[in-house]
Amino acid sequence: MSNISKSLYCNYVQCKKMIWLNKYKKEEYVETKNDSVMENGNEVGDLARSYFGNYSLVKYNEVLINMIMETKKYLKQKKSIICEASFKFDNLFSSIDILKIDDNGVSIYEVKSSTEVKDIYKDDASFQAYILRKLGFNVKSVNIMHLNSNYVLKGKLDLSNLFVIEDITDLSIIKEKEIEENVKEINEILDSEIEIDEDIDLHCFKPYDCPFFKYCSRHIKENNVFEVRGMTINKKIELYKKGIISFDELLKEDINEKYLEQIDFRLNNKKPKINKEKIKEFLDTLKDPIYFLDFETYQDAIPKYEGQSVYGKVPFQYSLHYYDKDNNLKHKEFLSKEDIDPRRSLAEQLVKDIPNNVCVLAYNMSFEKSVIKNLAELYEDLSEDLLKIYNNIKDLMVPFKSRDYYVKEMDGSYSIKYVLPALFKDDPSLDYHNLELVHNGSEAMDTFKKLGSYSEEERKKIRKSLLKYCELDTYAMVKIYEKLKEIE
Ligand code: SF4
Repeated sequence: MSNISKSLYCNYVQCKKMIWLNKYKKEEYVETKNDSVMENGNEVGDLARSYFGNYSLVKYNEVLINMIMETKKYLKQKKSIICEASFKFDNLFSSIDILKIDDNGVSIYEVKSSTEVKDIYKDDASFQAYILRKLGFNVKSVNIMHLNSNYVLKGKLDLSNLFVIEDITDLSIIKEKEIEENVKEINEILDSEIEIDEDIDLHCFKPYDCPFFKYCSRHIKENNVFEVRGMTINKKIELYKKGIISFDELLKEDINEKYLEQIDFRLNNKKPKINKEKIKEFLDTLKDPIYFLDFETYQDAIPKYEGQSVYGKVPFQYSLHYYDKDNNLKHKEFLSKEDIDPRRSLAEQLVKDIPNNVCVLAYNMSFEKSVIKNLAELYEDLSEDLLKIYNNIKDLMVPFKSRDYYVKEMDGSYSIKYVLPALFKDDPSLDYHNLELVHNGSEAMDTFKKLGSYSEEERKKIRKSLLKYCELDTYAMVKIYEKLKEIE
């Protein structure tokens, strides 16, 4: 009989077929979680351990019995907090993030790096409580411990405010019968070599993107409802279930005209759509000199710097293109040193680099605006200059979002990563694939966060790549702006 871990149990709750595929068709697994999500989870889990003070930690061991024996040792020693406390009942196994032990019972704390409680967390913690109750423990409380989205670092990190604890004890008791039945079915599924028959549904995306979607959707031909950009997953599933799947079928449906346009352009190889009047109207809102600005930021689940919130963005780099008086294109940039708070020096440099009251162009300006607003709130002495930049930002995305400029290669997207190659098909100087090491924002974020761990020589190379990447972001904006001007 296979062991049933808490993660296997949660996979089953999401979809029965997932646990079967995981056992019998593992080669079809396609990773859907990114590294930074996992790193955040580990960081939060490690920090939460000290929430109740000193603790004993059961070290991870591939041989589960070793973890169970270590837990037993700590219980015998009457330790009051055991992290990764591990238990087995029949073939059910679980490590508990934090187990608090009192004279008359135990309390379970399942730690999550998110800022809200999802239903699947309740299944997870209830499964752990089920094992302990079966083993004869008096489970006094079952809790989900997660990050407080309103927490802002002021002085020393305050764990009692950083975390929020939600008590789900009553629910964990109600769920006992359901768990018993689920465990029975899990054993049957895992014991059978016959593939489970389960169709695509919302459960392929919620609560998590399923790593077997490519396999389970292999019967769906190209140009299908799942390729329509911007449509909600609920709507896609609704149409899929009605058998409205192909682009041809979707064209007959009463759906948003932007979806129809994406489909029509792709299927019928339509010529570019350019609304000259609207583009002129947009360009008339901009005034020379124009400064093209783009930030790179990273996020910390646990705030590190004063005034930083949970998952607060930390800007560490920017690129700035502009034309001088003689209409020559110039470039300025900022990239912080690693392992320091980059915000103050970035803000100081930014207000020096951008003259007062010039027009600042960003692509998807809500991001740049939120970064500048946060800096203005943090540094009172720079706030006036920063707010001037904030108030003068315009968004280059506007004509593409409104589809006043649309070509089929944009494929329903107005992201610069689609718009740029669609407008400049064969220009290697505007191709992010030709960059070294850093090709997109999440690579920039991950690379910068780890910069301190590299050798001096590696750091130089990475910093050069980060600068090149961010420079291309604003250079791309300049080229897109020039393209719009040609239309006038
Ligand atoms: S892709 Fe969907 S149907 Fe297939 S295993 Fe995953 S959740 Fe189940």
